[in-house]
Amino acid sequence: MSVFAYRYGVLHAESVSLAAVAREVGTPFYLYSTAALEAHYSAYAGAFAGQDAGVCYALKANSNLAVIRTFARLGAGGDVVSVGEMKRALAAGIPAERIVFSGVGKTREEMRAALEAGIHQLNVESIPELEALSEVADSMGVVAPVAFRVNPDVDAKTHAKIATGKKENKFGIDYDHAREVYNRAAALPGIKPVGIAVHIGSQLTDLAPFRAAYERVAALLHQLRADGHDIQRLDLGGGLGITYKSERPPDLADYAAMVRSITGNLGCRITLEPGRSLVGNAGILVSKVIYVKQGLHRRFAIVDAAMNDLIRPSLYEAYHGIVPVAEPEAGAVEQPYDVVGPVCESGDTFAVQRPLPPLRDDDLVAFLSAGAYGAVMSSSYNTRPLVPEVLVNGERFSVIRPRPTVEEMLAAERMPDWL
Ligand SMILES: *Cc1c(COP(=O)(O)O)cnc(C)c1O
Repeated sequence: MSVFAYRYGVLHAESVSLAAVAREVGTPFYLYSTAALEAHYSAYAGAFAGQDAGVCYALKANSNLAVIRTFARLGAGGDVVSVGEMKRALAAGIPAERIVFSGVGKTREEMRAALEAGIHQLNVESIPELEALSEVADSMGVVAPVAFRVNPDVDAKTHAKIATGKKENKFGIDYDHAREVYNRAAALPGIKPVGIAVHIGSQLTDLAPFRAAYERVAALLHQLRADGHDIQRLDLGGGLGITYKSERPPDLADYAAMVRSITGNLGCRITLEPGRSLVGNAGILVSKVIYVKQGLHRRFAIVDAAMNDLIRPSLYEAYHGIVPVAEPEAGAVEQPYDVVGPVCESGDTFAVQRPLPPLRDDDLVAFLSAGAYGAVMSSSYNTRPLVPEVLVNGERFSVIRPRPTVEEMLAAERMPDWL
C-alpha cells in the first residue's frame, strides 16, 4: 500500500493532507514520507539478513540531512561521492567506519579528509587516482583501505546516461587489467587493497546484468587471492530500479538470493549501495497549476514547478506519474495535457499529451516517484528559489530545507570593487 493516498477527497502523505502543507509552505515543494523511507530501508536490509552484508545508502540520490538521519537511525552506512557528502553523512550521524567513498575523480584534498575521518573504504577507479592516494596516505603516515571499482563490461540495459558498466564508460578500471592494478597497489606505500567494488548503472529492472557483473567479480576474487591478495570485501553497488510507470523491478528477495548464490561461499563482507530504491518512491513534488492554456492543437497545464526543480524529464526523458491533490470526481473524463513549467526552454516539459482529469487554475498536482535525483539535482535557474523539502512522520510534518527568499539569494553574491 502506498503512503500516498486520498482521504476525505484530498491526497495525503501518511496522515498529513498535502493541501494543508501547501497552505503552510507554499508551492512547489518536495515531500518525503518517513514511513516509506523506513519501509524501503528495512526491506532492503531485511532481504540481506543472514548474510554478512551491510547497506551503505548512496547519499547522492537524496542528501537531505533529515533523510540521511532517518536511515542512520536504522543502522545504515553511507556511500558518498564528494567530501561534501562525507560531511553530510557524518553530520547526520553515520559513523565514519560505515562510510564508503566512491567516485571517479576524488581530489587529494578529499582523500586527505576521508583518511582523517577514518572512513571504512575508498573505492579507487584509476591508476593515477591510486598513485595520488598512495602519496596522500603515506604523507599522513596512514594506510588507506582500498577497493578497486572494476568495470565488468556488462550492459545494464538502462538509460544511456545512467549506464556505467560498459568498457566505453568512464567508470572503473578495465576488468582485464584488474590483476595488474592490484599487484601495483600492493607494492605502493599507504595502500592496502581490501576489496573489489562494482556498480554498473542505475534504474536496472532486470537481475541478469547484476548477475553477470557479480559473477565476473567473484571470478576476479579467486584470481586475486591466488595472486596473494587478502581480499575480504565485495562492494556490489546500487542500481536496483523502481516503478515509475509500469516497470517491474526485481524482487528484493530474488536479488538477495542471487547475491547469496554467487558470494555466499566466498567469505567476504558484502556492501550494498542502494540510492534510488530507498528514496525514489518515498517522495513527491507538489506543484500548483498557474494557468491552463488552450493552444491551437494542445491544452497546456502550466505549473509552478519547472525543469530546474525536477530535471529528470528533460535530462533522461523520465516519466513521473502526475495526480491531482483533490481527488477527481467519480466519472471525471480524462483529457490530454502537456504539463509544462514556466522556464523559457522547450525542454521545460514534464509530460506530453498526458491523460489527466480536468485541471483548473490553482489546482494542486503531485509528481510521483520524485524522492530520488529530484531535489539534489535542482538549481536556481531563472532565479527561482530552491524548492523547500518537507518530511512527514505520521500526523506531523516538518520543513527540512526552507525555501530561500530572493533577497537571501541576492545577498549570497558579491559585487567586485570596480562596479
Ligand atoms: C549512484 C551510485 C549508487 C546508487 O545508485 P542507485 O541507482 O541510486 O541505487 C551506488 N553506488 C555508486 C558507486 C554510485 O555511483
